Amino acid sequence: MGQTIPPQSQGHQPGVERLLEPQARHIRADYRGSGKLKGRRALITGGDSGIGRAAALHFAREGADVAILYLEEKEDAQETVRLIEAEGTKALAIQGDVSKSEVCDKAVEATVRTLGGLDIVVNNAGVQYISEDLTDISDAMWQRHMDVNINGYFYMTRAALPHLAEGSAIINTSSVNAFAGNKALVAYSTTKAAELGFTRALALQLAKRKIRVNAVAPGPIWTPLQPASWGPSDPQAVADMGKDTPLGRIGQPSEMGPAYVYLASDDASYVTGQTIHVNGGMIVNG
Ligand code: NAD
Ligand code: MG
Repeated sequence: MGQTIPPQSQGHQPGVERLLEPQARHIRADYRGSGKLKGRRALITGGDSGIGRAAALHFAREGADVAILYLEEKEDAQETVRLIEAEGTKALAIQGDVSKSEVCDKAVEATVRTLGGLDIVVNNAGVQYISEDLTDISDAMWQRHMDVNINGYFYMTRAALPHLAEGSAIINTSSVNAFAGNKALVAYSTTKAAELGFTRALALQLAKRKIRVNAVAPGPIWTPLQPASWGPSDPQAVADMGKDTPLGRIGQPSEMGPAYVYLASDDASYVTGQTIHVNGGMIVNG
């Protein structure tokens, strides 16, 4: 848990699991499923790696069939499929760019066709580019954050909604940065806060259909996003990530998965419009 992370960088976003040193943990060997999601069908964007893979493996251990959407990391997607199937449930990997509405429509269609329906949507695919100064952010870079992190959540949710019945759940991965801000992540923090507005307003709208909408706000977690975003400008920052949290370390994706299970399952049947903070103890408003 408290492993040392050496300085490192991945020159390209999205990053890949294979290059992480040390490897990340996505589910604890002693995490015991109890059928909380038996028979449910989930679609997780960015489910190939990191937090999305953790959600996928926990859902599968709890009995759900799981589809994942990924941008281009075929090896990570194939490994996640293998790991889901090893839990004894169905898996489907779909390649595509979540910032295109037609991709989201097709991903939902493929999921419904292959898994027989859809009950859980996890909007989790995201990009994060570092800029120490606002004037360094190009139009294209600002727009890319909005396209993937905001539009992607909207397109996927809109595509999924006609298929969701009473008892379904939507879970949006936001970030501690939506609450605490981050001086090098103005564009990213803007999108992560927008995702919270989306979560709250949609929760109110869907309450009458008994569809719950919640968010998870992770703190620093050991995923390919870290070396692929912070690494190129500051490999040491990757090594130091999380040391300033009250618990004094970066979190593992395996520490995120159970929060997604809670929000996806009937355990959270009276919870909607809320945010769960899994961030090493940082106390933030909201
Ligand atoms: P990750 O790199 O493992 O996951 C991000 C995924 O997004 C990738 O697997 C990639 O396939 C997908 N993606 C990116 N652009 C896409 C696009 N255009 N179309 C489809 N898929 C696309 O990293 P992660 O840290 O697990 O990130 C998952 C989520 O967690 C993100 O929303 C991120 O903002 C959020 N988050 C991460 C941390 C952290 O410390 N790692 C902290 C707070 C929030
Ligand atoms: Mg990935």
